[in-house]
Amino acid sequence: MSVLSADRLISPHGGTLVNRTGDRPEDLDALERFPVTSRELSDLDMIASGALSPLEGFMSRADYQHVVEEMHLASGLPWALPVALAVDEAPDGDRVALTDEADRAIATLEVDEVFPYDKEREAELCFRTTDDAHPGVARLYGQKPLYLAGRVTVFERPQQPFPELALDPAETRRIFAERSWKRVVGFQTRNPIHRAHEYLTKVALETVDGLLVHPLVGETKADDVPVEVRVACYRTLLEGYYPEGRAVLSAFPAAMRYAGPREAIWHAICRKNYGCSHFIVGRDHAGVGDYYGTYDAQLIFDEFAPHELDVEPMFFEHTFWCNVCGSMASTKSCPHGAADRVHLSGTKVREMLGEGDVPPVEFTRPEVARVLIDAYRRPEE
Ligand SMILES: [Zn+2]
Repeated sequence: MSVLSADRLISPHGGTLVNRTGDRPEDLDALERFPVTSRELSDLDMIASGALSPLEGFMSRADYQHVVEEMHLASGLPWALPVALAVDEAPDGDRVALTDEADRAIATLEVDEVFPYDKEREAELCFRTTDDAHPGVARLYGQKPLYLAGRVTVFERPQQPFPELALDPAETRRIFAERSWKRVVGFQTRNPIHRAHEYLTKVALETVDGLLVHPLVGETKADDVPVEVRVACYRTLLEGYYPEGRAVLSAFPAAMRYAGPREAIWHAICRKNYGCSHFIVGRDHAGVGDYYGTYDAQLIFDEFAPHELDVEPMFFEHTFWCNVCGSMASTKSCPHGAADRVHLSGTKVREMLGEGDVPPVEFTRPEVARVLIDAYRRPEE
């Protein structure tokens, strides 16, 4: 890889790609141990890999307050959501061990400060609701009462369900550079990709060098399609319908927060660290229930100065197959009515797949439908 080709890519957020991986320390057994939740574990690993650059650890009070109140770090750099570690009490020492759910030590944290925080204020500003029926708010309200801040060193990375898809930002950047890509669009999803989303990615791909299909494989809602099934769908679709040299499939290790608009910003900044110059934002990105307006996750980008984020959002409407146009389209490009459009509700699609019926080719690629049908039928066999 030449330096020149790597230089073509967008710079990481804040200018430098962070690496907080390191060796297991000798004095590990002597350190006080603090357990982390699955969400904190995913944040921790993303700090280690540089996906959350410029963060080198869990946020200080100053960063936390600036982020919650103003969507910027104390340094003035844009940032949308707290990355904080909740604990019951302050540690005694100046270094602690962090442990996963199996009580294995995975990282150390250099204690910077411990501070109380206002859960309702965080909910109100970050989730735009204080309703504890919201899954992100419920998790926030259930957290321990103090935040523990400090730089981390991770020596035990979590096992990934698909190791070959677990590409760190340095690795996706290397792949993009090897292909001499400069402009790369990131696409986030937590669902199988049907024709509508295939269309978005291809419209975006027409204007850039490459596409990063970056599905969430971290913690999602229980009723989301299982990750193994989704990965099989992505592979099938990419093999059959995208030029081999133009698309990269990799897993995005974040846990969903369901913070809607703010999470869209956060997702865009993370993708910038992975080397994406552009990021697709559809309707109701990272939303849940009726907490956010359809376009809130797009409008929030206007709260930043032009070029402040550097990564360029690409906004999309809901898309569909139109029988009259004879193509995929959206209300921005098709003048025809609902009767001419192929629309299937999520419920209807699940019903069809469960029955072993292949949905219309205008809705989903038959190869993808077959993967889903096999998965839905597996329990009975
Ligand atoms: Zn039309």
